[in-house]
Formats: sequence, C-alpha cells, structure tokens
Amino acid sequence: MRLFFILFFTASVSLFANEKVALQLKWLHQFQFAGYYAAKEKGFYSELGLDVEIRERNRVKNNIQQVISGEAEYGISDSVLLLYKAKKEPVTIVTPIFQHSPGVILTLKSSGIDSPYKLKNKKLMFYKKDTDGFGILSMLENISVTPILDRVKDKEDYTSLISKTTDAYAGYLTNEPFYFREKGVDINIINPANYGLDLYGDMLFTNLQEAKNHPQRVEKFKQATIKGWYYALEHKEEIIKIIKEKYAKNKSIEHLRYEANAIEEVIQHKSIPIGTLDKGRIKYTLQIYKRHGLIKNDIPTNDYIFEPFNENSVLNDTQKNKLFTDEESDYLKNKKVITMCIDPDWMPFEKNENGKHIGMSADYIDVLKDEINIPIRMINTKTWGESLEVAKARKCDIFSLVMPTKERREWLEFTKPYLSIPLVIVTNLDEFFISDISKVIDKNIGIVKGYAYGEILREKYPTMNFVEVQNVKDGLEQVKEGNIFGLIGTLATTGYHIQKDYIGQLKIAGKFDEKWELGIGVRNDEPILKDIFDKAIAQISPDKKQEILNKWISVNYDRNVNYKPILQWLAVIMLIFSSILFIILRINKKLKLEIRTRKETERKLQEISITDELTHLYNRRYFNKKFPQLINSAKREKKHVSFAILDIDYFKLYNDTYGHISGDEALQKIAESMQSSLSRADDYCFRLGGEEFGILFKGLDKEQSLELIEQVRQNIENLKIEHANNTASQYVTSSFGLVVKDSAITNEEELYREADDLLYKAKDGGRNRVCVND
Ligand code: GH3
Ligand code: MG
Ligand code: MG
Repeated sequence: MRLFFILFFTASVSLFANEKVALQLKWLHQFQFAGYYAAKEKGFYSELGLDVEIRERNRVKNNIQQVISGEAEYGISDSVLLLYKAKKEPVTIVTPIFQHSPGVILTLKSSGIDSPYKLKNKKLMFYKKDTDGFGILSMLENISVTPILDRVKDKEDYTSLISKTTDAYAGYLTNEPFYFREKGVDINIINPANYGLDLYGDMLFTNLQEAKNHPQRVEKFKQATIKGWYYALEHKEEIIKIIKEKYAKNKSIEHLRYEANAIEEVIQHKSIPIGTLDKGRIKYTLQIYKRHGLIKNDIPTNDYIFEPFNENSVLNDTQKNKLFTDEESDYLKNKKVITMCIDPDWMPFEKNENGKHIGMSADYIDVLKDEINIPIRMINTKTWGESLEVAKARKCDIFSLVMPTKERREWLEFTKPYLSIPLVIVTNLDEFFISDISKVIDKNIGIVKGYAYGEILREKYPTMNFVEVQNVKDGLEQVKEGNIFGLIGTLATTGYHIQKDYIGQLKIAGKFDEKWELGIGVRNDEPILKDIFDKAIAQISPDKKQEILNKWISVNYDRNVNYKPILQWLAVIMLIFSSILFIILRINKKLKLEIRTRKETERKLQEISITDELTHLYNRRYFNKKFPQLINSAKREKKHVSFAILDIDYFKLYNDTYGHISGDEALQKIAESMQSSLSRADDYCFRLGGEEFGILFKGLDKEQSLELIEQVRQNIENLKIEHANNTASQYVTSSFGLVVKDSAITNEEELYREADDLLYKAKDGGRNRVCVND
C-alpha cells in the first residue's frame, strides 16, 4: 500500500511538473528584460506549464552561441541574429520585442556635435565588433561620414566622454544617458532611427531543435513572454521593485525607472502590438547586411521566423473554460444570443454587405465569438444614425467598434480597445519633433485620399489644413519636395517607405497614440457583459491582430514588386466591378460613371510598379518622374546635379556568343554592381531600356562625380564576366556619357541629349570609358 502511494505520488509529480527551460539574457539583469521577469514572477510561464530559468550574461561567452549549442533553449539578441541565420546557423526568431534598436551615439552638448554630419574626423568610441553597433555604422555609411573609430569600448567607460578622451560614444539610449543626467552633464543623442536606419532591437529567439521538437512549447513561451511585457509596462513600479530585490541588487531604483521609460519608447507598445513582426523590415535589414558585404546568400524571409506547426491556440479547453467566472458563464448560458449593431458603411473597418458583416471588426468578432461560445447576431441597419437609435432603444447589446465619447458614456460602456491604428506624421529631417499635432495647425498636412482615418482626423481637427495625396509614396515625395509640411500615415507603411527610399531625408516626427483606439461598446445596463468582452479581447494574440490589419489595410509596394497584395486588391476590385455590372444590366444606367472611376483605379494599380523586373532597378517610368524632381531640388539647394548614361559594350555580340540567358544574367550582375557602387540615399540607378542604364545624383562637383562614375565603370569590369569578342577588354565593359551641371541647369531634355552625345563619344573613343562634359 505504501509502495503504491509512493509510486502514485512520483508518477503524478512527473505528470504535472512544469517543463524546465532556460533563457539566456544578452546582458546583466536590468529593466531591459522586465517582461521575462514579469512572466516568471507573475506566473504567466507556470500557468502554461513552463519552469523558466533566467540566466544573466556571462561576458566571456557568446550568448547566441550558447543557444545554438543547446546550453539554453531560448535567448535574446538584436538584428545581428539575422546575420547568424543568413550564415545558416540553426536559430530562429520567435518574436521581436523592441520595435526599435536603442543603439545611439552620445556627445557632450558643449561639443556642438548634434548631428551625425558633424562627426567627420571626430573620435567615436565604438564596440570591438561591427555587429554590436551595426545601426550606427550603416547610418554613417549612408550619409558618407567617416569618424575615427576607436574600438576600445568595454562596458561603462562612458566617463571618457566627460574627460574628453573621445568626442563621441556609442551607447544605449536606455542606459548611459542616465549616468550623464545623474552627473548633471548635458548631452546630445544622435539616433540612427532619425536618419532612416531603423532596425529591430531585442528579439526572443530559439534554436532549431527546440522549434522543431517542441513547437507548442515555443508558442507558449512566446505568448507568456508577450503577456509578461504588457504586464511589466503597465506595472512598471511593481516590476522595478522585483528586479531590485531579486535580480539587479546594485542598480538604483532611479536608474531602473529611467531605463523603464526609455525601454517603453523603443518597444512602442501603445502604437504597435508587442510581438509585431514586419517581414519587409527583415528583408530591409538583410539588404543592409548584404550591402556591407556581410552576407552573400539569400534565404527566404520566411525561414527567419518561427511558425508554430499548429496555428490554433495552444491553450487547451480546460484553460479556456476558466476564462469566465461561474456567474459570467451562467449569464452567457441564459443570454443565448448577443445582438450587435455596426456602422453599415465604414470600410475597411466594417460594413453591412447585404446583411453580412464584413471588414476588420467582423474578423475580430469572429475570434471573440469562439471565446464567448454563444452566437453574436448583427441587427440590420442602413446608416450609422439608425444604429445609434436602435442601440439606444436597447435593441443591441453591443457595438462592434466604437470610440468612447462623453455623450455615449451615458448609455454605453467601453471595453479595452482591440483595434489601434497607429498614426504618425512624417516630415523632412530638419524639422523638429512634433509632440502635439495641434501645434502644426497652420501647416499643410497630407493625408492619403480615401483612407478612413482621413475622415476621423478632419472631424477631430476641423481647422487644420489637410491636403489629399494620391498614396503614401506621392505624399512622401510631396513632403520631400516641400509642397506639404508633413504626411499623416500609419507607422507601418510610412516607416517602411522611409527606410526603403528616403533614408537621410524624411523622418517620423511625431505620433498620435491613445486617440485612435477603438473597442466594443456595451450596453451599460448589463455591466457583466463588458467584463466578458474585456476578457475575450485579452485573448486575441498579436499575430492575429497583425494578420487582420494586414488583410484590410497594409499594402506595401515592394521594390522587388510584391504582386500578392496587388493581386488581392485586383481581385477585390474585380469582384466589386462584376457585381456593379450585374446591377447595371438589370436596372441602373447611372452607375456608368462609377465604373469609369473604378477602371481608372484598376489601371493605376497595374501601373504601380516602379521597378524593372529583371534587374530590380528603378524603371524608365520612375526615371521620367524622378529626373525633373531631382533637377528641381538641386536647383533649389544650389547643388550640382549629375546624370550619366551607361551602355554595355558589344552586348549584341555577347548575346550571340554566350546566349540570351547569359546576357540576362550579365545585366543582373551589372545592375547589382552599379547599385552597390552608389551608396548614398539619393543616388539613383535606373534601367532606361535594353542594356542602357541611367545614374542620377546631386551634391558632387565635376571632379567628384567623375571619380564616382569611374569607380562604377571599374567595378563593372572587375566583375570579370568573360566577353571574348569585346575589343576593349577580355571582360564585359561599358561606356558612359556623364553630364555635371551646377545651378545653371537647363532642363531634363537637354541634359539627356548631352549625356547621350557624350556616350557616343565614349563609344567612338574605344569604349570602356567615361566622357564628361566640358
Ligand atoms: P555597342 O558597344 O555599340 O553598344 O554595341 P552593342 O552590341 O551593345 O549595340 P547596341 O547597344 O545597339 O545593342 C544592344 C543589344 O543589347 C541588343 C540586344 O541583343 C541586347 N539586349 C538588349 N536588352 C536585352 C536584354 O534584356 N537581355 C539580353 N540578353 N540582351 C539584351
Ligand atoms: Mg544600346
Ligand atoms: Mg551596347
């Protein structure tokens, strides 16, 4: 009997014991890891069956390698992890935590160095390895500034800035500024994110073995961690106390508090759900690594990210049932069905389409229905006004998606928001940060035509000068050209375009946060219903939120044209188009006008591509647009403008000798070489047609321009693509016509003609050379 008890006891312990895993931190205990401590101390890990050991960094070991070797199952790293992945190390990103990297440059205010442009020939105390300060290095390279790198930085030798043994110091936004503040020393912070170089900061990752053998465990670790981070940011003081007592005993409460506030800035959880991952940004980071020659191979972007094998929630049914109290479950049982009012015409948020609820809120309600487990039925209304009336008469229990207002509070309660549309304002780099949108009331602010928030903003700020722009790109162009002061858009799309095309030119100058959060409105005479929905909303995962957002809002026009969203839009448009045709056939002639506009939209969506498919360079259409713009801005800034035409030598013969496919490959290699020879943000390469390319830039005089183009020429020859029938070399070469003009620039046609004439001079003169104007 006793033996039985012992056996039973041991068996049940091992059956219910939590699974032990280790998390390897990337640094010493501090608020940087608050979410993990919160998940552990508040029981979020253990409620999902995990027993997590949090290990401090051992500075003599490589913390990423420790996870690769299996010494720990989980680790934390910044964007450098992509480099490991590209080199085929067995790691995978589980979720990003910091939307932005806290890596910055610090200088003394008294030094006057307040921009990276002033770092030329200045001493910058930097990390021993490039990879530790990658964002900083890329920013400097993008703007062509070379400081003197003093690679001695160890840990807390920030004092060398005060003692003036260095001019600038690479550090963490979340850490070192505190020391200076404590000592009463004023500093400047130069943040690469303000110069277009915006990389992910800390990310949670795991090794492939764990991802493969325990996908459910990885998913649980992720969910509990994200929950921990929300908790930590919403209860900072409590977690600071825990960190001080249990983990970082020698950090002061004030320092932890400073760190907590700075960390909140880089996590940005109020603007974007924690754990949001944008594949475009991963791609962008890889491109930077490539440009720096750190990686050569391409791994599909998907392979960088952990995807659970089973997309369903990892919570089992018993855990789910515990979501509601007995009282709440009873209430739902008796209620049987929840009635709901919506705005019948508010896309992409929601719509009543022939009695069917569609749009973003519909997708959310679908998820919530699963949690609540009783049907939610939409009441048919024709207008928003009618919905309000019906709801006031207590014929709907909930509104699917509303903003809390004072008037509505008299008869509605509001859940926590589930939809937040992070809006930001983008301006030129030299504008100040905008802390309050009402401060720019006298400026022209662009908003994209037809976007739902345009209407909300107009209503909210009736006296402001809103200007409609065609799309995000058009808006950003107009900001850059100075036609409008700023553009309002979502963080995701504008950030993405800035990184791709406006590095060092435009920046995100301010954001609207709490104002654009929408949740469920619940009748205030049944308050239990609000608690129920609040609990259900808390179950929606960040991935799901992102998925819904992407489905309805985000359309990225990728440089490597991404056809998927275009096709999706086309499909939607075709659908609308055909239903309209149907109606026309039966009843209405007036709709012809509408068709015309829809056709116009459709036409525009096909034309959206600005790149060439073979080489991924900008295409001729974009050249035609960009050319006059660049000339105008050079005129305005009183800068030189340079334009070169390049034509490959004896390329017909190349095709004849090596075949057309080899010809295509040579074109691709040459395009790549051109692009990597030109590193500044507003150096542009175009494929003008066939084997002719254009290069456009400003700000370099004749001598400097010639030097640059000469380098492009040499780099092409140095590709050493064999071309036996080229009389100018044994390799593929090209000839260039280059025109450099100062402020006395005439117009684009003349510039083009002159460059073309010079190209033929280069051909006549023996090829493989550059001819420049007098
Ligand atoms: P030149 O040195 O005088 O420029 O001699 P060329 O043979 O290059 O003469 P030209 O510029 O007139 O010839 C262009 C050739 O480039 C014609 C065509 O065979 C080739 N070409 C143009 N576009 C493509 C392309 O997309 N792929 C391939 N493989 N070949 C192309
Ligand atoms: Mg040609
Ligand atoms: Mg040619």
